[in-house]
Amino acid sequence: MKIYNTLSGKKEEFETLEPGKVKMYVCGPTVYNLIHIGNARPMIIFDTVRRYMEHKGYEVNYVSNFTDVDDKIIKAAKEEGVDASVISERYIKECKKDMEGLNVKPATTHPKATEEIDGMIGMIGTLIEKGYAYPAADGTVYFRTRSFDGYGKLSHKNLDDLRSGNRDLLVSGEDQKEDPLDFVLWKPKKAGEPYWESPWCEGRPGWHIECSVMSKKYLGDSIDIHAGGEDLVFPHHENEIAQSEAANGVPFSKYWMHNAFLNIDNKKMSKSLGNFFTVRDISEKYDLQVLRFFMLNAHYRMPLNFSAELMEAAKNSLERIVNAADNLKFLIKNSHNDSIREAEKELLSQTEEYKKEFDAAMDDDFNTADAITAVFDLVKFINLNASSDCSKEYLEGLLAVLRELTEILGIVVDRKEELLDDEVEALIEERTKARKSKDFARADEIRNQLTELGIVLEDTREGVKWHRA
Ligand code: AMP
Ligand code: ZN
Repeated sequence: MKIYNTLSGKKEEFETLEPGKVKMYVCGPTVYNLIHIGNARPMIIFDTVRRYMEHKGYEVNYVSNFTDVDDKIIKAAKEEGVDASVISERYIKECKKDMEGLNVKPATTHPKATEEIDGMIGMIGTLIEKGYAYPAADGTVYFRTRSFDGYGKLSHKNLDDLRSGNRDLLVSGEDQKEDPLDFVLWKPKKAGEPYWESPWCEGRPGWHIECSVMSKKYLGDSIDIHAGGEDLVFPHHENEIAQSEAANGVPFSKYWMHNAFLNIDNKKMSKSLGNFFTVRDISEKYDLQVLRFFMLNAHYRMPLNFSAELMEAAKNSLERIVNAADNLKFLIKNSHNDSIREAEKELLSQTEEYKKEFDAAMDDDFNTADAITAVFDLVKFINLNASSDCSKEYLEGLLAVLRELTEILGIVVDRKEELLDDEVEALIEERTKARKSKDFARADEIRNQLTELGIVLEDTREGVKWHRA
């Protein structure tokens, strides 16, 4: 498996630090609003990377944070006259709903910045002790950028170019800095803002330190993959490397992966430009699977332009895959002939070719566009070689191959309204167990999921009864 590593600027063979295990950290959203479809791109891409690695047999420990303390959250809280945590909790919940719609698996751990402040204070203390950071008179703590030898190695920037080329750094007005390149690790509180006690001042962390700390806590000092959108390469990831490697004394992440932007009219989709659609907007018009499929039709390192025409095209081609599955299910239901014949065994073994084609595309730096071509080749084969004369076992074999490949992409070939009775029952059982163990959040989530699929639950003395709405 080859991965393009931003650090080396090359595709490299993927080798894990520990055999069979992948430690992966993906920078998550700042939660002050509903996520837009640009934010959904890294979620979908790196979820697909994770799924493919799991398919290959790796055990993936996947950590993705929520940045829940930030100027934009504080501003939104002031506007509504509520506590910042009200805003962040609300949008974490909404973000999780969107992720579920996009079939993005929950991370192994979703840490929140505000719950990791002690760790941040600890790492900042270490950096000061080691001479990599210093507190200024007002209690702001800065990272001494020039003291870290490798600074610039990820973004391939040279310190002196940075100094002369980046006017923002020079005119920052933060004259307490020893050097304009230094960046903030901890800053003093402002009136009406959330703050924490620290050895330097009552205040809050800078943005970059949270990821260094959460990655260390949940994955260890050295990890396999660190990922996010390409806007994070500089300064966020560059600063994370400086903090982590200076504090821990070992390489931080072996591979760095970055997705290109989702654009609209060839400009980056962003909240600040106002040219965005939220995932929620899209869900009013489309099944969110269509959005996922649309994103996977482009290579993740290529800019992708969003348009209504491309969404329609994605919808139509996804429909061809779902139709093939529908057709197989229909044939299976009506099949009388149970065991597979020799000629069918031969045909089924031919589907290995499509699996190989799929894997070869994914092994080449997750070329999902080519992997989708392999799925369409399989769909053509199915349409040609499945009929009412076929045995049930053979038809089920074909459906299993189609499911295997689409599930790696996070695409579900079953129509939502077609949730099978056993699937409903399994969910109800899971909900009952969740309630017994007082996991009411999960229980509610299942009830909502079922409601969305048109399943009505009734809690009765004899247990849970259900019917289709
Ligand atoms: P933010 O909430 O802005 O910190 O962004 C969360 C994630 O979304 C980061 O990995 C960003 O790089 C990514 N991101 C933001 N806008 C876009 C976009 N238009 N296209 C692709 N990725 C984006
Ligand atoms: Zn981060």
